[in-house]
Amino acid sequence: MFERLRERLIISGTLEAVTPLHIGSGKPELEIGEVDMPILRTPDGQPYVPGSSLKGRVRAEAERIAREMGMEVCNPPDVKEMCGTKKKSPDEFCICCRIFGTAGDVSVASKVKFRDAYPLEEVKSILERTGIAIDRKKGTVAKGALYTIEAVPAGTKFGLEIVADNLSDDELKLLFAALKSVEDSALGGSSSRGFGKVKISISEVCRRTAGYYLGEEEEQRFRGEDLKRWLREKGISDECILH
Ligand SMILES: [Zn+2]
Repeated sequence: MFERLRERLIISGTLEAVTPLHIGSGKPELEIGEVDMPILRTPDGQPYVPGSSLKGRVRAEAERIAREMGMEVCNPPDVKEMCGTKKKSPDEFCICCRIFGTAGDVSVASKVKFRDAYPLEEVKSILERTGIAIDRKKGTVAKGALYTIEAVPAGTKFGLEIVADNLSDDELKLLFAALKSVEDSALGGSSSRGFGKVKISISEVCRRTAGYYLGEEEEQRFRGEDLKRWLREKGISDECILH
C-alpha cells in the first residue's frame, strides 16, 4: 500500500501522576517468591513511562469506546483475532486497527506514535510500599512472601508527546476520547491499591504537512483558545483534556 503524508499532528502536553504510579517491566501479576517490583528507569536512574505502555492503555480505552458507539472492533492482542488476519484489505479494518495498527497477514503500521514520557523535573525520591503476596489458589498468605513495590510519587509530571499521521476527524476524536478515558481508569500496576490515576493535559497541537518539510509551508501551532477552537471545529469537546 502506498502511503502519503497528508498531515502530521504533534500533540504535546503533560501526564501527571495523581496517585503513585508503578510502571514496571511488564509482569502483570505478582508471582509467589518474587520479592521486588521495581519501576522502569532510564540509564541515569530517572523513572519514565514507555510510549508502548501508554499506547496500549489508550488503545484499550479506544476499543471500549468504539464498541459502545456500535462500531465493530477486533480483539487484540491475539493476532488471529485482529483485522490483519481477519480482513482482506486495510479498507475493511476497524477504527482501532486504522489508528493503532495491526499485525497479521495484512500488517499495517500505527498512525500514532507515543514517545517515551520523561519527568519534567528530576525525581529525587521513589516510593516503596510493602505488601504481602497472597497465594491465590489457597487464599492464604504465601510463606515468607513480603514484597516491595516501587512507585513514582503523586504529583510527578512527565512530558507527553504523541505524533499522529493522517488521522481522519473521527479517528482523532476517538483518540482524544480514549486519552480522556485513561484518566478514569488506571495506568501501570497495583491499581487495586489506588495506584495509577493520572491526569492528561494537552497544551499544544502542532500541524505539519509535506509542504512544511519541503520548506514551502509554515507549520501551524494551536494553543490555549486557538486549540479549543480547533478541537471544536473537529467536533471534539474542548473540555476533553484541557484542564
Ligand atoms: Zn481491528
